[in-house]
Amino acid sequence: MAPKPISPPPIPDDYPHSDLYRIRHSLAHIMAQAVLEKFPGAKIAIGPPIDYGFYYDFDLPRPIKEEDLADIEARMREIIAEGHAFTRRVIAPDEARELFRDQPYKLELIEDILSRGTDEYGNPLPPGEQPVLTTYKHATFEDLCRGPHVDNTRDINPKAFKLMSIAGAYWRGDETKPMLTRIYGTAWRTPKELRQYLQWREEAQKRDHRRLGKELGLFVFAPDEIGPGIPLFTPKGEIVRHLLESYVREVQTRYGFTHVWTGHIVREDLYARSGHLQNYADVMFPPMVDGDDRYRLKPMNCPSHMTLYKKMGRHSYRELPLRFSEFATVYRYEKKGELHGLTRVRSLTQDDCHIFLMPEQIQSEFAMLLDLVQEILGRFGLTNYQVRLSLRGEGGKYVDDPEKWNAAEAALRNALNASGLDYTEAYGEAAFYGPKADFVARDTLGREWQLSTIQVDFIQPARLGLTYIGPDGEEHTPVVLHRAIMGSTERFLGVLIEHYAGAFPVWLAPVQVVVLPIADRHAAHAQRLAGRLRTEGLRVEVDADSETLNYRIRRAEKAKIPYMLVVGDREMENGTVAVRMRSRKNLGTMTVDAFLARIRADIEAGT
Ligand SMILES: [Zn+2]
Ligand SMILES: [Zn+2]
Repeated sequence: MAPKPISPPPIPDDYPHSDLYRIRHSLAHIMAQAVLEKFPGAKIAIGPPIDYGFYYDFDLPRPIKEEDLADIEARMREIIAEGHAFTRRVIAPDEARELFRDQPYKLELIEDILSRGTDEYGNPLPPGEQPVLTTYKHATFEDLCRGPHVDNTRDINPKAFKLMSIAGAYWRGDETKPMLTRIYGTAWRTPKELRQYLQWREEAQKRDHRRLGKELGLFVFAPDEIGPGIPLFTPKGEIVRHLLESYVREVQTRYGFTHVWTGHIVREDLYARSGHLQNYADVMFPPMVDGDDRYRLKPMNCPSHMTLYKKMGRHSYRELPLRFSEFATVYRYEKKGELHGLTRVRSLTQDDCHIFLMPEQIQSEFAMLLDLVQEILGRFGLTNYQVRLSLRGEGGKYVDDPEKWNAAEAALRNALNASGLDYTEAYGEAAFYGPKADFVARDTLGREWQLSTIQVDFIQPARLGLTYIGPDGEEHTPVVLHRAIMGSTERFLGVLIEHYAGAFPVWLAPVQVVVLPIADRHAAHAQRLAGRLRTEGLRVEVDADSETLNYRIRRAEKAKIPYMLVVGDREMENGTVAVRMRSRKNLGTMTVDAFLARIRADIEAGT
């Protein structure tokens, strides 16, 4: 069952200079006018266009309700029909302070523009632009603004926008500052684009992995008991996790990887030597102190794998590339406000790998890794991706060894060219210790997810004193490639739940078959049948509850169980099963062997 692709209308290239951007920005102003009319005394903060629409933040004299949105929207349509021109003017600082004397948030932004040279939202200006105090006015509403806007409100299609939701937002994103009311709207050029967007958004909400994870009984969170951002996987959820990891492990083994295990806590000293303590302290949990010893929960595996390499004894160039892979749970101190379902968590299991090799092996190893990534992502139907090659830029942050950089960058580029993969180069995006390649995959909803990463490292191996004996009999420092394909099992599972809308392919479904006896007298037969299918390696449940058959069928469909086998008198007598699929397709009656052949073919095909 290939998921049906659905996408939002495209965002124009060079969006900030597009007509769509002007439409949305103008609607933010029109909405602010309508809100000020409905809530006299409201204070206005900022109102920029965003990817799919616009918002404006307000400090309102009374709480706003969803019902208010309809009134505001209706008034916005009137304002559009009135046909007001947008006019720009440059104003002097004192005039600006006078104009916005009742608007404290605007006064703060004016002082920022004057003293810090920011834009009208308090953000740094794009390079090459000078700070200016300008306003845009239409009808009765004048805003501190650099534009651009439409010429006239009539340039906006009144049927191509919609106010979507209300949310709380701290002034300047700062938890210590006042909480404002943010009203979100979406806007497009045509009603048709609006309909397409709304349909896409509805589908995205239906697929939200936090909602589906609960409905399908895959995982729970217990922020008060266990802690925020630490998912607990149910028996069903753990089956999927385990299948993902064992699949990746099996493919990796075929590609010549070995697997290691390195525990959960590490002496803090090691992170001081590797450089993590200096650079990543803010994402590490605080230390555990044991007398004079200090330990940390592992935030990453690199120093552990490198220590393992070192402690295994002397290495010869003949052993290289040596590939250590581990499904390692690491702990990151993410801010509570930034945690999000499975995609942003505090405990995550990386499919982490470190490859120790000679510099001249980078190209062939990278070429092999490109094949590996494509095979694994392809198994999940993630075949639409872009590779981003991050290269060294100007400036002093990069390790000063131009020869190594040139060689490594050329090796990655050559391998990418030979692979025929679509890739872009990003100058100045490399880490200070080497170039890297990221895979950004598109899911069925056209959303981009950065999944796999392959990172070259010239620094840590030297810092931690790793060596190998080269063909010349001398000691050399190996290069290390850091590599993850899923990224983390948790995040990848979150992406897959949304990608498949919870209907996992048969090989990955936590329950593959449910047997439904028609009446009580068929229950024992159903249990025997389930037992037989289990001995064939299938994951099977029996639903012999007292509800009607139709009810139990609907329940199995909702649980997205790929196959339902209905058994009654006739099936018992003939040794057959009546087969239904979760897509509601009825496959009719077949022998148990015929069913087994069918489900095995599905598992084999990965569908
Ligand atoms: Zn504006
Ligand atoms: Zn690493």
